[in-house]
Amino acid sequence: MMKFDPFCNKDILNNAFYLTESTMAVYDIKPVLPGHSLLIPRRHVADITALEKNEVVDIFNTLNTIKPVIFKLYNADSYDFTAQVGEYSGMTVPHLHFHFIPRNEKDKFQTDNNSVYEGIEHSKQISPTEMSRNVELLRKELNWSH
Ligand SMILES: [Zn+2]
Repeated sequence: MMKFDPFCNKDILNNAFYLTESTMAVYDIKPVLPGHSLLIPRRHVADITALEKNEVVDIFNTLNTIKPVIFKLYNADSYDFTAQVGEYSGMTVPHLHFHFIPRNEKDKFQTDNNSVYEGIEHSKQISPTEMSRNVELLRKELNWSH
C-alpha cells in the first residue's frame, strides 16, 4: 500500500540541504545512521527508468557534490546508495528517491551489512530540532543560499 507523497510537497524543502535544477538532497527523517540522506528528482517520477538523461546526470553530479561533505561531517569512508522501486520492493513513498547511507568500520551494521535495509524500515523519526541541526550543518558546509 502506497502512502502519500511528501516529496511533491514544498514542505520537504525544510529538510533539504542542497538543490540543483532537477535534484534535491534531503536529510532523511528516519536516519538509519547519522548522515543518512536522500537524493530525489524534483519532478515526480516513480521509477528510475522514467528519468530523463539530464536528470540522471544531475543526480550523479549531486552525489559527487554531497559525498565528500557527508563523509567529512559524519566520519564516513563508505556508503550504501540504493533505491526501492515499485510497491513490492519496500518503497514506502511513491516518488523515486535514492538513499545515501554513510558507513564506517564502527557503524552498528558491521556485524550484518545487509541489515541496513531492515534499518530503513524500522528506524525512528528524529525530532524537528535534530532535523534542523543536521540540515543547518550540511547547508553551511555546502554553501546553501536558497
Ligand atoms: Zn511526487
